[in-house]
Amino acid sequence: MTPSVGFAPQASDARLAASLFQEAARRSPDVAGISRPAFSAKETEILEWLRAEAEGMGLCTWYDAGQNLRMCLPEDAQAERFVLVGSHVDSVPMGGNYDGLAGVLAGLICLARARSRGERFARPVQVIAMRAEESAWFGPCYIASKALTGALSAQECAALHRGDHRPLGEHMRDFGIDMNRVQSGLPLIDLDQVLGYVELHIEQGPMLIGKGSPAAVVTGIRGNFRHRDVCCSGQAGHSGAVPRAFRRDPVMAMSDLLMRLDDAWASIIQKGEDLVLTSGIVHTDAERNAMTRIADEVRFSLDIRSQSSDVLEGMQGLLSQEMAQIERERRVSFALDACHWTAPAMMDAGLVEDLSASMQRIGLPVVRMASGGGHDAAVFANAGIPSAMVFVRNRNGSHNPDEAMEIDDFLSGVEIIYDMLKQSRSVGRGA
Ligand SMILES: [Zn+2]
Repeated sequence: MTPSVGFAPQASDARLAASLFQEAARRSPDVAGISRPAFSAKETEILEWLRAEAEGMGLCTWYDAGQNLRMCLPEDAQAERFVLVGSHVDSVPMGGNYDGLAGVLAGLICLARARSRGERFARPVQVIAMRAEESAWFGPCYIASKALTGALSAQECAALHRGDHRPLGEHMRDFGIDMNRVQSGLPLIDLDQVLGYVELHIEQGPMLIGKGSPAAVVTGIRGNFRHRDVCCSGQAGHSGAVPRAFRRDPVMAMSDLLMRLDDAWASIIQKGEDLVLTSGIVHTDAERNAMTRIADEVRFSLDIRSQSSDVLEGMQGLLSQEMAQIERERRVSFALDACHWTAPAMMDAGLVEDLSASMQRIGLPVVRMASGGGHDAAVFANAGIPSAMVFVRNRNGSHNPDEAMEIDDFLSGVEIIYDMLKQSRSVGRGA
């Protein structure tokens, strides 16, 4: 067990959390880890199970227009405006049990606790268990939160399911979602009712392990631009017979480009700015090429992320500038496929302050950090809803069966959110 600094959760909360996580895992096993596909019968089964658990706790439950499960205290059922707390229940194939689910259970435990203690929140709270956040099933990500906020594009609705190859829009229609509204870009819910959005999520990187802290308040969520398929073409040749000056080697050109981007990355970080850069797919055609052949073509991906739109735009400019220079110097040519752009999202300053104050109140050192991965909170924030996140320490990354979160760490995160919901009347807009 990882020691938690300054906060000891109650045994009853720990038992409830552990049994809920276990039961969710038991209901969604795969060859390795768990699988809860987006817009599947399995996802609905998990929501129905959560609904029964919540009703057993005396909570009100219903499905919203996006077919996501909502839960609240009976006294908040008629509230005109409310704070949304939650995350997603779907997972990647053979993923881990905590990514997404932890945020939903955090909300549910806050409600259960308020109910059993007879405590009220400063503003009414609704917990949301969303569908379809992961891009693994259809391609687009944050499907539920985008549909709720009117941000799901026609192109995304046309994306095909990896298994049955039917478009996302058809799957959503089958679940009873009003696709005319979605495709007209209209929100499925009245966004003015949502005072704020708060999401607990496992950290997907190693920062909190390194800091020895169980939780952190998230300050912003990185945006990104991506090219899935960049092609660099040159000229094939014999690896022994062509002297350096005569070569038009695309592999060397790609390496040159990546090293120039890496240098830029180092100096951006030195200036205190935020950036991460990955080329996760790199290949020459193995059929056509050989150890003794200069390749005629190399293909690679680029995933460039930052909290700052300016840094992303700067990198986009630098990318084309460096490509043009390398094309001249090395006599190759680069071709970029379509660029997918996601804007960075800032978390609400007031909510970040409130969550930090709660962290301090419950005896934890205040830790703040940026989120490297994308989350539904970014969609709500970009829809103008004040949003915030709490990260919980987790080993071995996410999107794999080895995710490892301690229940005590999870409950530290829950405590931060519970304290904030009870104390903060200023939560969100319109306060
Ligand atoms: Zn997630």
